[in-house]
Amino acid sequence: MNILAKFGGSSLSSAKQFKKVKSIIVDNKDRKIIVVSAPGKDEKYSSKVTDLLLLLNAHIDLGIDYDQLLESIKERFMSIIDELKIESSFLDDFSTFIKQLKKGYSKDDIVSRGEYFCAEILSKYLGFEFLDAKDVIRLNFDGTINEQKTKEKLLKMINPEKRYVIPGYYASTPEHKIRTFKRGGSDLSGSIITKALEYDLYENWTDVSGLYVADPTIINHPKRIDKITYNELRELSYRGATVIQQEAIIPLEKTEIPIHIKNTNQPSDFGTLIATDIDDNGAIVSGLAGSKDYTSLTILKDSYQPLSTILIKVLSVFEKYKLSVEHIPTGIDNFNIITKTKPLKNVYFDVINDLIKIDGVMDVSTEDEVALVAIVGRNMSYIPGVSGRIFSTLGKQKINIKVIAQASKEISIIIGVKNSDYEQTIETLYHEFY
Ligand code: ASP
Repeated sequence: MNILAKFGGSSLSSAKQFKKVKSIIVDNKDRKIIVVSAPGKDEKYSSKVTDLLLLLNAHIDLGIDYDQLLESIKERFMSIIDELKIESSFLDDFSTFIKQLKKGYSKDDIVSRGEYFCAEILSKYLGFEFLDAKDVIRLNFDGTINEQKTKEKLLKMINPEKRYVIPGYYASTPEHKIRTFKRGGSDLSGSIITKALEYDLYENWTDVSGLYVADPTIINHPKRIDKITYNELRELSYRGATVIQQEAIIPLEKTEIPIHIKNTNQPSDFGTLIATDIDDNGAIVSGLAGSKDYTSLTILKDSYQPLSTILIKVLSVFEKYKLSVEHIPTGIDNFNIITKTKPLKNVYFDVINDLIKIDGVMDVSTEDEVALVAIVGRNMSYIPGVSGRIFSTLGKQKINIKVIAQASKEISIIIGVKNSDYEQTIETLYHEFY
């Protein structure tokens, strides 16, 4: 069995965490490749190393002195090296880094160093090989992953007899320049490598014992999800459950390689297993997730014009301003578009101006402070009465539902409520189904 184990920033934030990681890895020889994030926050340090590196880049851009910041970054790594007495080349690498900064390093080069240094140090601590992500994860010109090149490079550089530590979060462009992924992107690095090498399992080690049925900041000790399908998880992470990056699920869903979310601080907890065929636990609702701050735009249309003609023009405005389209509930004379409020605010007047100029659009009005809640469950679509239960339980609590969406093959029902009703909606639904 071949396992890739990815450890997030909270799992590698201090010497104490490095020790836990080591004991997990030593415990199972099948853990052949370790992918790491940069050290995250902990009791002593209130910033993630990646945040410090972003700040460093901003200081350089603005021409502000950054010596103090360099010291703080160095000290994060030195505290681990010193306490664990690791023989690492970190100090030499850090001097080279400072020289490169003076010569002109790109933002991506700078920000990627958190993962780079962390992987180098962990590889020495474990006695594993270090393999730089820039030499194996390759991108296309448009920034997408070049899967074939990545596979070729990995197969060429990995000796199946050895074990490796690889930095997450970045890859290299066709011109061999470093490009970082979006924040939290080490999850994606782990899944790309797992897929390319056709490993049997992708373990994602973090600081929680898997996914909860509902947000634990709203529900006291919610039930844990033991097993869930890829598309249920994608739906939940899209809607706000943050345990693993949504993009990282897709490569493994296609090849049906299971993902196991585990807790570095409680390794004996089962965690959450994500796979295709999972035994049925009989639950109708697998999970609830959601987030606040959406805007609903109501578009009043000319009743003589077909909906499709107007809709296509309206959607092109959303595309032009790169705004998300979350849902489009439609009526005869009007329809709604639900989008995220924050990005809309920046271009609000341009969007409204473009919309009212469309032939057939009679009026546009907006309503802010909408929260979307997803009720997700693979069993839901063929069990009658689920939506009835949702609406009657929310009705009893006098929660007004503003938006309802469910496609026929969907594994989720999405409802929109007022921001101020969000927490109560989650609580009510949780108690109805659990
Ligand atoms: N270190 C990066 C971040 O803080 C990437 C990651 O942790 O996966 O976002």
